[in-house]
Amino acid sequence: MSRSAHPAGPRHADVLPEGHYSGPPSDLNVLDPKVWAQTVGRDGDGVVTVGGVDVKTLAEQYGTPAYVLDETDFRARARAWRAAFGSDADVFYAGKAFLSRAVVKWLHEEGLNLDVCSGGELATALSAGMPADRIAFHGNNKSVEEIERAVSAGVGRIVLDSFQEIVRVAHVAESLGKRQRVQIRITVGVEAHTHEFIATAHEDQKFGIPLAGGQAAEAVRRALKLDGIELIGIHSHIGSQIFDMSGFEVAAHRVVGLLKDVRDEHGVELPEIDLGGGLGIAYTSDDDPREPHEIAKALTEIVTRECEAARLRTPRISVEPGRAIVGPTAFTLYEVGTIKPLDGLRTYVSVDGGMSDNIRTALYDAEYSVALVSRTSDAEPMLARVVGKHCESGDIVVKDAFLPSDLAPGDLIAVPATGAYCRSMASNYNHVLRPPVVAVADGESRVIVRRETEEDLLRLDVG
Ligand SMILES: *Cc1c(COP(=O)(O)O)cnc(C)c1O
Repeated sequence: MSRSAHPAGPRHADVLPEGHYSGPPSDLNVLDPKVWAQTVGRDGDGVVTVGGVDVKTLAEQYGTPAYVLDETDFRARARAWRAAFGSDADVFYAGKAFLSRAVVKWLHEEGLNLDVCSGGELATALSAGMPADRIAFHGNNKSVEEIERAVSAGVGRIVLDSFQEIVRVAHVAESLGKRQRVQIRITVGVEAHTHEFIATAHEDQKFGIPLAGGQAAEAVRRALKLDGIELIGIHSHIGSQIFDMSGFEVAAHRVVGLLKDVRDEHGVELPEIDLGGGLGIAYTSDDDPREPHEIAKALTEIVTRECEAARLRTPRISVEPGRAIVGPTAFTLYEVGTIKPLDGLRTYVSVDGGMSDNIRTALYDAEYSVALVSRTSDAEPMLARVVGKHCESGDIVVKDAFLPSDLAPGDLIAVPATGAYCRSMASNYNHVLRPPVVAVADGESRVIVRRETEEDLLRLDVG
């Protein structure tokens, strides 16, 4: 991402140090609707509210840190994806972004399908009443036990990820007297992240079967011979946090090329194509994601055009957005603790959570924004780094952001766009207790995943 260069030369207090920021915004009290959930705003006293509930009340009632999820926004985004793709396509929400029984229920009600990639995710989906035929099972190393559970439950599809798995799934299904619908996941030699994609050499990874060297064609050949499985299509997932559609363009071209080869060799037109997920969201005001209807239009056009050129019937398309649905719907609410100004550098603002509730900054160098939410302030902006309470100097939540210089212990700050890959990747590092997820809608709040307790920790430690 582009960042303005900082002035060269010695570090004076008035010269900003190197970092990931583009200068202080004109008004720190303004909440950019791009990065905050739909119902977020400030009340008459300047306190941030979501779903009609203010954050001070939420902090008192549920404690901090807490993930606060805007249910209205979640449902609206799920519905927008569903509507954008229409009845000729399927939207599978990628459960790994954030899965809970309430989320499964909302997805079910809004007409979405669900991707799972472990026995635990499958159990969550089934226990919340998602019909099995609307579940897709993913993963590069599904255990035989997981495959048995998925086949027995009657999942709509299993996405095969290796030559060994083709045989494994066919064998399990046959032994259970079933015929399992499957897709084959291929790697098309494209990897996309954020604003760029690279169209070579990205077959060097653990997922999928490479198109290169005829391996994907060989996988299809083997799958078509086995009685236990019914091959319904080809799957491709090219990356994450993607804004630029050109990676999908190349991927669709190559997947359709394989469908054409399959038709020519076997006389079979596979009815489905899955283009995966990875659509980007705004973590900061610098990000400009596309709307679901623009994405749907672009993807549908690409596939239709490629199929016309190959004289194939256009297959049923599916997509698997995770982050794009849940990411923007939640923020993490923290209480400010220790504040440590480092002269000429920045001010370290410690919060009561950290890398245990948001590993993405440490793991991927992810960027986030942050705002003071328990009040407004007209104080000068200060360059801040929001850090956690863990014994690790890489325990950073927001690398560089401006906060008002009158920030004080006890203030509440919130990091937006933490709905995806934060709670789902949360850990107990330092025996810190994982925060709750609080859903808010229409003036009401409720816990959908409760805070961990020391009792929870000690129950696993059998001494
Ligand atoms: C992770 C993943 C997704 C979802 O990715 P997002 O970036 O959350 O949209 C979709 N499909 C597959 C196969 C994945 O592994």
